[in-house]
Amino acid sequence: MCIFCDIIEGKIPSYKVYEDEDVLAILDVSQVTYGHTLVMPKKHVENIVEADEETIEKCAKVIGKLSKQIVKKTGAVGCNILNNCGEVAGQTVHHLHFHIIPRYSENDAVEFKFKESKKQDLEEVLRTLK
Ligand code: 5GP
Ligand code: ZN
Repeated sequence: MCIFCDIIEGKIPSYKVYEDEDVLAILDVSQVTYGHTLVMPKKHVENIVEADEETIEKCAKVIGKLSKQIVKKTGAVGCNILNNCGEVAGQTVHHLHFHIIPRYSENDAVEFKFKESKKQDLEEVLRTLK
């Protein structure tokens, strides 16, 4: 059972911001800021690591289009694009989705903070990643 598949199939109501054959965008029920929107593929895939390239590209196109539209229509001064991949990263719904979170001020309800972290040898990190 997947709550977003139920939304896509119309079994659970949602407020649709955008829809095409492959992608759906809906208002996030939590509205962390005014206009908070979720973009998801209609095809069920758990997260970005599991998703095929075409699915990610289709979502990316809609994220680009809607970010502009949402910022313009709401009068926001910026936005965060967020994807939580895996429970360790805060993913609670296991159907790939991207948050578009319009930002109105640094003191709104959103806070991303990087804690102080260990220094890394960037050459070594690069060798690992490639
Ligand atoms: P995650 O933590 O997995 O990145 O984000 C899941 C998001 O889905 C949360 O922000 C939560 O508010 C939203 N959400 C969970 N259930 C529903 C629902 O039934 N309808 C809508 N519109 N949003 C939901
Ligand atoms: Zn699903």
